[in-house]
Amino acid sequence: MQIITLGNEILRQKADKIDKIDEEIEKLSGQMLEIIVRDKGVGLAGPQLGIMKRIFVVHVEGDTERVFINPSIIETSHETCKFEEGCLSVPGIYANVIRPESIKMQAWNEKGRPFTIEANGLLARVILHEYDHLEGILFLDRLAENKKKTLIAKYEKKNTK
Ligand code: ZN
Repeated sequence: MQIITLGNEILRQKADKIDKIDEEIEKLSGQMLEIIVRDKGVGLAGPQLGIMKRIFVVHVEGDTERVFINPSIIETSHETCKFEEGCLSVPGIYANVIRPESIKMQAWNEKGRPFTIEANGLLARVILHEYDHLEGILFLDRLAENKKKTLIAKYEKKNTK
């Protein structure tokens, strides 16, 4: 499975709710977790593979593999923090992004079981980054307009060689 990169309008579309968490979805989540190992990522969302479904997977070092289906954000902290982010869909580009320090999210796992998670630090950041993909939002959109423009120009220069 190929990862869709910046410039493709698919990344700008909102993903659809998954009606039924079946074996196919479970298989997909397994494949997605394999891709983040292969591509050395920490998270991957359906739309990045052209699959417009509300699913993403997260695997942060020192934590278990996590699958989020039809997630909803219950709470985000007022406290924010800044940390460098990258994205498998925007290879080679990194920037400091300000996000809430902690979050509370409800979702279903690949077995169709609902769960609630409270996360902070890097895990919270990755979850919010992946959640954004379901809404058609990229980490670049979270930057100041001039910074975003500079990075997109840098990306385009790199990729038109
Ligand atoms: Zn991303």
